Amino acid sequence: MDKEAIFEQVARVEERIGELYKELAGLKEQIVGLIEDNTRLMMENQRLKELEARFSSPSGETEEKTLPPKEEAAGKGVHHLADLYEEGFHICNVHYGRLRGEGDCLFCIAFLNKSSKEE
Ligand SMILES: [Zn+2]
Repeated sequence: MDKEAIFEQVARVEERIGELYKELAGLKEQIVGLIEDNTRLMMENQRLKELEARFSSPSGETEEKTLPPKEEAAGKGVHHLADLYEEGFHICNVHYGRLRGEGDCLFCIAFLNKSSKEE
């Protein structure tokens, strides 16, 4: 067997693996970006729902049917954020909606404590 040909083939395969690895890293980055965008939108949506519940008139019967009472909505919101934090996302203003990676975030914890006290 031609040793030189084998080495050439190995080098070509190595090069292709390198390219695939780069492509994979790029895809991973895009996925993280999309997940973070999605989380930010979820948080924004949650926040808007809470604002809507807070500012909807309590006397309006039609609105009361579709929206939960004020306190319930606010409590749900905090719970939802705590869930997101547990799932590994930042809920603080500093890194809003980004993936947390390993370890706790002091800003997030402070925000959670503050939110649960306001309840
Ligand atoms: Zn954070």
